[in-house]
Amino acid sequence: MTTSQASAPDGPAALRERYRLERERRVRPDGARQYRDTDAEFGYYAADPYAGEPAGREPLHDIVDVAVVGGGFGGILAGARLRQQGVERVRIVEKGGDFGGTWYWNRYPGIHCDIESHVYLPMLDETGYVPEWKYSPGEEIRRHAMRVARKFTLYTDALFSTAVTSLAWDEASGTWTVSTDRGDAFRATYVVTATGTLSEPKLPGIPGIEDFRGHTFHTSRWDYAYTGGTPDGGMTGLARKRVGVVGTGATGVQVIPMLAEDARHVHVFQRTPSTVDVRANRPTTARDVGADHDGWARERRENYLRIVSGETAERDLVADRWTMSAHLLEKLLPSFRRQGDRKVFEAAYEAADAAKMNELRTRVEQTVTDPDTAEKLKPWYRYACKRPTFSDRYYPAFNRANVTLVDTADTHGIERVTEHGVVVGDTTYELDCLIFATGFSVGTSGIHSGKLPVHGRGGAQLLHTWARQGPRTLHGFTSNGFPNLIQMGTLQNASSVNFTHILDEQAVHAAALVAAAEAEGALIEPSRAAEDAWLAVLAEDAPDHEWFHAECTPGYYNREGRGRPNGPIAYPHGAYAFHELLRRWREESMAGILRAGNGNSPRRPGR
Ligand code: NDP
Repeated sequence: MTTSQASAPDGPAALRERYRLERERRVRPDGARQYRDTDAEFGYYAADPYAGEPAGREPLHDIVDVAVVGGGFGGILAGARLRQQGVERVRIVEKGGDFGGTWYWNRYPGIHCDIESHVYLPMLDETGYVPEWKYSPGEEIRRHAMRVARKFTLYTDALFSTAVTSLAWDEASGTWTVSTDRGDAFRATYVVTATGTLSEPKLPGIPGIEDFRGHTFHTSRWDYAYTGGTPDGGMTGLARKRVGVVGTGATGVQVIPMLAEDARHVHVFQRTPSTVDVRANRPTTARDVGADHDGWARERRENYLRIVSGETAERDLVADRWTMSAHLLEKLLPSFRRQGDRKVFEAAYEAADAAKMNELRTRVEQTVTDPDTAEKLKPWYRYACKRPTFSDRYYPAFNRANVTLVDTADTHGIERVTEHGVVVGDTTYELDCLIFATGFSVGTSGIHSGKLPVHGRGGAQLLHTWARQGPRTLHGFTSNGFPNLIQMGTLQNASSVNFTHILDEQAVHAAALVAAAEAEGALIEPSRAAEDAWLAVLAEDAPDHEWFHAECTPGYYNREGRGRPNGPIAYPHGAYAFHELLRRWREESMAGILRAGNGNSPRRPGR
């Protein structure tokens, strides 16, 4: 018997009660309202720390074939797939100073992707690039984003350091007017929105947060001018500094071991411990990953998606902790459906979950030498309640004399920030630097944020229309009343942990829609009947996981403890099946999507 099993509550009922009590320690009445945006009022805030002040340029009033909003992997892949369909003028508009999206903004020390690089990096077959590590550092991923953009000549028409401020459909010309914060008002026959899902950094609304007189910043705007060093470490600027870190999610788990090496002292302010599983990063060769034939990366990626979507596969090519725990992640997936007797299934699931969580709690005990610290680092919730993390350096960092773990669960997080430090309970921790690894607002970017109004036919605003009747789409991409507008994202389609794969399938689909519209001289606009039919598909097998998330410890998966609503928010059978469905639909019918155009499009004179 392991020590953890010995100290674990006795039996499923006792474990459930322990989970409930731990949840109660963390749920707050203000839920998601506890957070605020980062903005220019807060600490070190550079609009773009990497590009500096953007160079001046004349506003554009020209016309392009496709405007793509966002230059992360979604926008890049949309551009690449449009190029493959022969589309010439693709203009990607991006807030940052270059391509990369999340990998442009996040450059904190230790940044890596914890999805295997050979499935995460898209277009490996097309670019001939083979990553050399199982898990890539952020800079390699950012450079790959730029490589794909170069290969498909996406720099030619791109606009950087530019934010789209509105999209408006013009019935007479059959084009969209794309307005930006640089005074542009250019036209585009089609618009693809690829604005990301976790891109707006958020801060806890801790009383006094603005009073702190030391240095402070959010991990997605790392201030290397203050810390010194690079994403590989060497932060000599911290050698004499007392550093506080708020947040122990996927970012905190990567940052904290790096800070531990370089700072005089690190205080880790933890509210909920993450699960931290084995990472086992290692160099890989082309032979290891089977990169010896055309299509190797596509096959590997499909195999991975199959397994993490809960489908069966003959072999597990990636064989990492995501694929090994795939059955436990079912609760995260819309594809989760109970089979057979509900009670039997639940009992089996609960036992498997308890075994996994015991294994993870044992890992803490076996690594962290101070028993009190080890106890605080143990996660007490079901595996799928929070995003799993992976590190072989996180727990050992707590054995260092210069690292202190401060548990803030009983006070629902840090209570107060003062001019000189952080208050938790009776103790004030004096700090020179306070770093927020507190994540991102969920679902508030791009056209769903309200900051980027989209006016369709007759001036109707997309969000106003949806507020009245609920979101309506065909396959999540297109909506009636908003012709030639294609949305990439997670609404009413399907998602998975390997998000670049999801984006690539969406990009293929978007490009196919544009190609079909061009071939037919038609508009891309689903009929109301096609939207109704899609909503019916989503509703038919909508997952019943509300209860599960309502019992989970709070976090962004369950709206900070409120639970995740049941209902038709995503395709219920998972991403793998969704991709199959889209492929079939494209090959067989493309039913309900093309509508006769008005013949006024400047790209189709006379049609
Ligand atoms: P998260 O939202 O996952 O974590 C935020 C952290 O801040 C949590 O630990 C949270 O605690 C803590 N926190 C918030 N408010 C307070 C407070 N008042 N007092 C104390 N602690 C507080 O953000 P991350 O940046 O870590 O990750 C965001 C997402 O980005 C991930 O879920 C993942 O999808 C992605 N990511 C992916 C990586 C990859 O390798 N692929 C790497 C890094 C990020 P609590 O849990 O109690 O709310």
